[in-house]
Amino acid sequence: MKYEAVIGLEVHVQVRTKSKMFCSCANRFGAEPNTLVCPVCLGYPGTLPVPNREAVRKAIKAGLLTHCSIAKRSKFDRKSYFYPDLAKNYQISQYDLPFCEHGFIEISGTGFSGAALTPKKVGITRIHLEEDPAKLNHASGATGADYNRSGVPLIEIVGEPDLRSADEAYAYLTALKEIMRYGEISDCDMEKGQMRCDVNISLRPEGRSEFGVKIELKNLNSFRAAHRAIEYEFWRQSRLLDEGGTIRQETRGWNDDAGESYLMRTKESAHDYRYFPDPDLTDFELSDEEIENIRAELPELPDAMRRRFEESYQLSAYDAEVMTSDTALAGFFDAAAKKAKQPKLVANWISSELLRLLGENKTPLGDCRITPENLACLTDLIADGKISGKIGKSVFEEMFQSGDAPDKIIAEKGLSQVSDSSAIASIVAEAIRANPRQVGEYQAGNARVLQYFVGQVMKLSKGRANPQLVVEELKKQLG
Ligand code: ADP
Ligand code: ZN
Ligand code: MG
Repeated sequence: MKYEAVIGLEVHVQVRTKSKMFCSCANRFGAEPNTLVCPVCLGYPGTLPVPNREAVRKAIKAGLLTHCSIAKRSKFDRKSYFYPDLAKNYQISQYDLPFCEHGFIEISGTGFSGAALTPKKVGITRIHLEEDPAKLNHASGATGADYNRSGVPLIEIVGEPDLRSADEAYAYLTALKEIMRYGEISDCDMEKGQMRCDVNISLRPEGRSEFGVKIELKNLNSFRAAHRAIEYEFWRQSRLLDEGGTIRQETRGWNDDAGESYLMRTKESAHDYRYFPDPDLTDFELSDEEIENIRAELPELPDAMRRRFEESYQLSAYDAEVMTSDTALAGFFDAAAKKAKQPKLVANWISSELLRLLGENKTPLGDCRITPENLACLTDLIADGKISGKIGKSVFEEMFQSGDAPDKIIAEKGLSQVSDSSAIASIVAEAIRANPRQVGEYQAGNARVLQYFVGQVMKLSKGRANPQLVVEELKKQLG
């Protein structure tokens, strides 16, 4: 039988803030375990949580960027469960009144397999704000708990079951990460656990509209792993259904080394968590003004930026894609393109030279010594014929090393293009003097020899002579 996959993702994203969600401990990754803790995030009895406004603002920003409606009244609830990653035995989360609901994000482009996707909107059910539990470390045979992570603000983005393939899921995760990074909500560094995703997947016979029973997959620590796990689960469930078996609702883990999923537990349901409003926290009221203030801070999203780059800078779709592949790069390009005579040339230099040098030197763009202004200046010098593209390349490398402005490097190294006609005339004369045989050939009617002379003059001038003037002068002197 042919089956169709139905997939919905639940994505957790740590919110980048100075302090934790309900206390003033630092929200920072990588410190000695259990050094960023206090009675509140260790769950001591008698302590009181105080909500972090910045985290709330960023949760709402995430909602606005994903076209959600924002709740004017919201609240925090206790989600009870017993596990050592949670000192209080409940997690402060949101149940029936999340900050954001009913949004969507658009996916397009290509999936992990490289196949082109039909663009579509994927629904966002809700985005709620909660606290991250501690990180448990099982590495050494015993289990260690690091409460530095306990109480870090976390948003959960629950997606509608609108995805139909591993490739679509991959594109969705990529788009979501891009939005979170553009909105400066999170760096979404998966290696630091800043973005974590659970996959829900069910199968149904092709053409059927009802959904099948879903399996929830956990422990997916990269987008690639999510893609692989979905393909595996699709295969596993198809085979089971074909053999006449039934799917039970269960939570499964993903073993990326073995390339297979395994049973963790049969699924718990909401009433197991005994949600109830947290009596320590009052309801959250948001004024229209506050929401509008956050809306006013929204950055331009990658899709809109791509369109603007194509229209106002005449970039190809491909170049616009490359220039917006990263927030910092997009900002860098935009700043340079605004100042440059030929923005297209700026894009060329970024994708060919800058990205290559950054890669070779393992330098993040943030540490790059070339400023957008200097890059604009370099491309102008080339566009104006003041230096050749070839010399531009060595100037560029020098700019990369020293951070100097291109005019300074050109002046110091005497690299500027020679457009002075008497200087060119004397180099041309020298080239003619040195090659009497070729002069004879030219005068006998072999016009192609002219190219040979251009080459000689460029060599003598170390690439600096203005090629157009060289051709004119050669024609004049050769008669
Ligand atoms: P639960 O009550 O088990 O938490 P929800 O209805 O809240 O389930 O959905 C949780 C996630 O599972 C959402 O991302 C949703 O899109 C996805 N989901 C729900 N039903 C299905 C299904 N039949 N197949 C695949 N994914 C589903
Ligand atoms: Zn604390
Ligand atoms: Mg649910």
